[in-house]
Amino acid sequence: MLLPALFRPLVDYALPPRCPICGVTVDADNRFCLSCWQKLAFLAKPWCAACGLPLAFEHPQDSCCVKCLIDPPIHDGVRAVVRYDDQSSLIAMRLKYGTRLGLAKLIAQHLQKFVVECRDNAIIVPVPLHRTRLWRRGFNQSVLIGRELARTTGIKMNYNVISRSKRTPPLRGMSGAQRSRIVGSAFALRADAQENLVGGTVLLIDDVYTSGSTSNACARLLKKAGAEQVFVFCWARVISDFEHG
Ligand SMILES: [Zn+2]
Ligand SMILES: [Zn+2]
Repeated sequence: MLLPALFRPLVDYALPPRCPICGVTVDADNRFCLSCWQKLAFLAKPWCAACGLPLAFEHPQDSCCVKCLIDPPIHDGVRAVVRYDDQSSLIAMRLKYGTRLGLAKLIAQHLQKFVVECRDNAIIVPVPLHRTRLWRRGFNQSVLIGRELARTTGIKMNYNVISRSKRTPPLRGMSGAQRSRIVGSAFALRADAQENLVGGTVLLIDDVYTSGSTSNACARLLKKAGAEQVFVFCWARVISDFEHG
């Protein structure tokens, strides 16, 4: 029998902790088994200072990949825990579709290491969902991650900064310009948000960084509202076979 989504977190507590990818029993909550841990492609420096793309060689600080040199993103950097692949996408999907809400805690635990390089006046802002999607799903996975990160770091979260005024169609197969145009018009600044952002650093929370069009659309608005820096914090970063540093 399928359990209603409401009761699943309670049931999670009653059962022994399991690896969130393969399901084998593990020592503690929010841990991967050794085998899955070894298969996850954790991202680390050297990476592009602008988009987080892993670079093949150690470069001077703030080096960018070719793509970002030609067309720099509006945000100030991407901090992704892992590369998006068969393993890491399971985590993103299970969080997104509500079968394992505790995964937000796990992701936030991994994001904590990136917080140290951010300045004191930081604020956490999750990428919003459109209201129809929010109603259907019942929660926004980015808010869940942001809330856990706020709880463990003491950084304030404000999820009322940006609203998603339009639903975006699937962007797969579209050019960068098409994506930017569609996504750019999907978000709006909320009128009461501006005073929180002036001169500050925003940690923009998303589950997966794909083309950067969503992050850029949000960063554009956040900077318009006075934010000095916007860093994208996410679980997984898509790295296509064509990308290289
Ligand atoms: Zn496992
Ligand atoms: Zn780059």
